[in-house]
Amino acid sequence: MSPAAQVVIESLTKKYGPLRAVDALSFNIASGEWVALMGPSGSGKTTLINILGGLDSLTSGMVIVDGVDLAKLSEGELVRYRAEKIGFVFQQFHLVPYLTALENVMLAQYFHSVTDERQASEALNRVGLGDRLTHLPAQLSGGEQQRVAIARALINQPKLILADEPTGNLDEVNEAIVLQIFRELHNSGHTILMVTHDPDIARQADRRIELAHGHLQFDTALHGPGHPLACPLVNTADCCTSNISTDDETRFDHLLEQIWICGEEGKPAHIEILHVTGPAGHLPILPDEPAARALSRMSELQLVELQNGEVQLTPGGSRRARDVVRRHRLAERLFKDTFAIEDSEARNQACKFEHIISPELDQRICSFLGHPKTCPHGNPIPPGDCCNGKSKA
Ligand code: ADP
Ligand code: MG
Repeated sequence: MSPAAQVVIESLTKKYGPLRAVDALSFNIASGEWVALMGPSGSGKTTLINILGGLDSLTSGMVIVDGVDLAKLSEGELVRYRAEKIGFVFQQFHLVPYLTALENVMLAQYFHSVTDERQASEALNRVGLGDRLTHLPAQLSGGEQQRVAIARALINQPKLILADEPTGNLDEVNEAIVLQIFRELHNSGHTILMVTHDPDIARQADRRIELAHGHLQFDTALHGPGHPLACPLVNTADCCTSNISTDDETRFDHLLEQIWICGEEGKPAHIEILHVTGPAGHLPILPDEPAARALSRMSELQLVELQNGEVQLTPGGSRRARDVVRRHRLAERLFKDTFAIEDSEARNQACKFEHIISPELDQRICSFLGHPKTCPHGNPIPPGDCCNGKSKA
């Protein structure tokens, strides 16, 4: 066992009658690690979370959390274990409907130790609900209820946070707020195991683990951080030969750009006309890779759909393609207009720049340039959030 492992899972099996909900599962979680737990419905994610949280017993194997062997705890000791070590965040918020936000958090304090109104209101403040203390759950939006549930789960500063699809019922805005809370928890050293179906959320974690039929299908700790989700190459010689993350993302962006441009030109994006490395000299850092292989990984990531040799962007792929194209064309404008760099060099630089511009910088450049509508070659620059009603003709 590595000394930093906070959670050790060894040959864990949970049977419901003949069904093995978790089947000979083994992995460790390091202290402070943020792990995204993925896998299809019924693959055993909730069962695993419940066992780790002391809500369910194991059939065989071993689970050790903070040096404590869960199988050896009595009912009473499990209650204490849950109260002292674990913070649960569920998809359903499980708030007591007739208690206010503040009272819901104080109820959790009551179970842990003693109630402390100031501490409870500070906890609600931290999740941005300082002005909602006396609201009943029914008077709060779904996102606000989830934040009360998070404040409640965190009231005892649990070292291990178990979250079962915490953003599953939330709209985009609240999802972003809740994820920001998790990022802060991660930064302050909490260990997080979070069930999610969303690859974008999973990518924010340090590590992704995927279950299938109760066993470990895939673990980025074994396969490398840049490894695509559900990689079809897992366990083949082509898989995980190096840390491929940055190069991969660059390749994907590059292909997405080409598919987007095909769309602008109104022609189908056939696999044969797409290239991974670009025209000579454009992306010299990238070794050759057949476009078809990169595209099949992009289809696993739900960026594109492949049909009869033709590639189409998914809504997510389309958003990302649009953003890359925008960054590229903005960068070209910047280099050409502001730095008076000649055309081919501007294009060259833009190819590199498009991968490193953050959303904030994107908006600053766009505003600085007066929200231009086209690149120096007359191609449209997709508008950004900053462009509302401000575009230069
Ligand atoms: P997931 O959270 O990945 O969707 P679960 O852990 O909820 O999966 O379930 C794993 C498997 O165990 C499923 O086949 C499910 O039907 C079964 N299962 C879960 N809980 C029980 C239970 N209390 N009794 C019987 N079967 C269960
Ligand atoms: Mg589940």
